Amino acid sequence: MSYLDGQVHEKLRSIVGPANVSSAPEDLQNYAHDELPGVVFLPEAVVKPANTEEVAAVMRLANEVPFPVTPRGLGTGLSGGALAVQGGIVLSLERMNKILEIDEANLMAVVQPGVITGELQKEVEARGLFYPVDPASLDSCSIGGNIAENAGGPRAVKYGITRDYVTGLEAVLPEGEIVRYGGKVVKNVVGYDLANLLIGSEGTLGIITEITLKLLPLPPHRVDLLVPFDDFRPAIRTVAAIITGKKIVPVVMEFMARAGVKACEAFLGREVPFSDAAAQLIIGLAGTGKAEVERQYETVAEICLEMGAADVLVAETPSAKERLWEARRVLLETLKAQSPGGEVEDVVAPRSRIPELGEAVAEISARTGFKMVQWGHAGDGNVHIAIMKMEMPDRVWEEGLPKVAEEIFRVAIGLGGSITGEHGIGYVKRRFITMALGAAEIRAMKRLKEALDPKGILNPGKIFPE
Ligand SMILES: Cc1cc2nc3c(=O)[nH]c(=O)nc-3n(C[C@H](O)[C@H](O)[C@H](O)COP(=O)(O)OP(=O)(O)OC[C@H]3O[C@@H](n4cnc5c(N)ncnc54)[C@H](O)[C@@H]3O)c2cc1C
Repeated sequence: MSYLDGQVHEKLRSIVGPANVSSAPEDLQNYAHDELPGVVFLPEAVVKPANTEEVAAVMRLANEVPFPVTPRGLGTGLSGGALAVQGGIVLSLERMNKILEIDEANLMAVVQPGVITGELQKEVEARGLFYPVDPASLDSCSIGGNIAENAGGPRAVKYGITRDYVTGLEAVLPEGEIVRYGGKVVKNVVGYDLANLLIGSEGTLGIITEITLKLLPLPPHRVDLLVPFDDFRPAIRTVAAIITGKKIVPVVMEFMARAGVKACEAFLGREVPFSDAAAQLIIGLAGTGKAEVERQYETVAEICLEMGAADVLVAETPSAKERLWEARRVLLETLKAQSPGGEVEDVVAPRSRIPELGEAVAEISARTGFKMVQWGHAGDGNVHIAIMKMEMPDRVWEEGLPKVAEEIFRVAIGLGGSITGEHGIGYVKRRFITMALGAAEIRAMKRLKEALDPKGILNPGKIFPE
């Protein structure tokens, strides 16, 4: 269905400038997918506003006509959230990419939504400050996208997730009203917390146009350990032994299974440390004093060896750390190169139940013949599972994938967890939301959506099943 006629195109051009509205086929293609393989929806136009007023004017026009608007950051999402699944326009926030202020006195940063997360980190670190949220996509994703997905990352085990750092937001609501909530204040309980309502709303309740973020002092000393194990279970038990047993909360506790490490080794074309191990843990430790960090890593290394680790590799220099992280950083790219068709699940479970989750997933994979590779944030109980199509015939894949995904979700929920920890429901997981939420919760969420977006034009076709 086509929503935009020549007049609407003209009005869009007059709002954002002719150079910032495109219907060129190559542009539509570029904005028709995110990083999830195989899910493609062409928008009718791509519109790139430069400021909040332009976003608001586009939303007022969208209500008047009406036509669907799908907000987009930098398109690294893994649940199809930024795709125009019901047509209309993609509203890309990529031009709103300025760091407006780094306020050292108040430990705050004010940014536009299109700022690349890794760029903000570099800027604040150059001033001895720290923005800890580090999705593995940090060099290519936007802060606005992180807010919309409530992104996490390896450092969540110690420092938490995006929500923990947002103290203020400006947003354009679906009908075009501009709202601001919070600011450079750590405490604020005035009325309903509109900022927290928008965080994690996957671009369905408002378009985020400015963000105030809390910063921390940068811990000056950081050491990373790479720890191989001959079996998956002791690797995961080691996580609890460190946190619960020794009361040390590392900055990072990531795990990778052999299949993933081996694939990365082949992809990189060079040897990766301990690639024959059944599982690897990457443990990051940080602190203000060198001696304190050394004491921590000696204790952690001891526990790892007691728990059955085959070795402990310590990386203190930037180049050693780079090598230690190399496989983890290229993992998703590697898996996509191996199998252009696939899906990535990101289930969560209580940390202590991760070994059971891992075993159940391995069993489902063996029984169904769907190839799966597991890795993830062991410290916070968030496991990623790439389900890879490989050479599987289309029909077998299309029929089998929802069943396999449902089995994995059932296991995660049965262990006290849920179906997504950070990638969001988006488009691809809508049909499963009823597994994780009851009818009353879904009704309350839909009422909120209808109240803010009565015409259903902001990012339609997401989160809720048809
Ligand atoms: C290699 C790789 C590693 C990843 N690792 C992690 C990880 O460790 N942790 C993690 O949490 N995620 C991870 N992701 C997923 C993804 O990077 C995050 O979800 C990220 O937050 C998306 O940001 P983006 O700018 O690319 O958003 P997009 O993909 O463009 O959009 C994502 C969603 O946000 C909405 N949106 C975007 N901008 C706005 C805005 N300004 N206002 C309102 N809604 C908006 C969109 O409508 C969409 O629903 C990874 C992805 C890849 C490819």
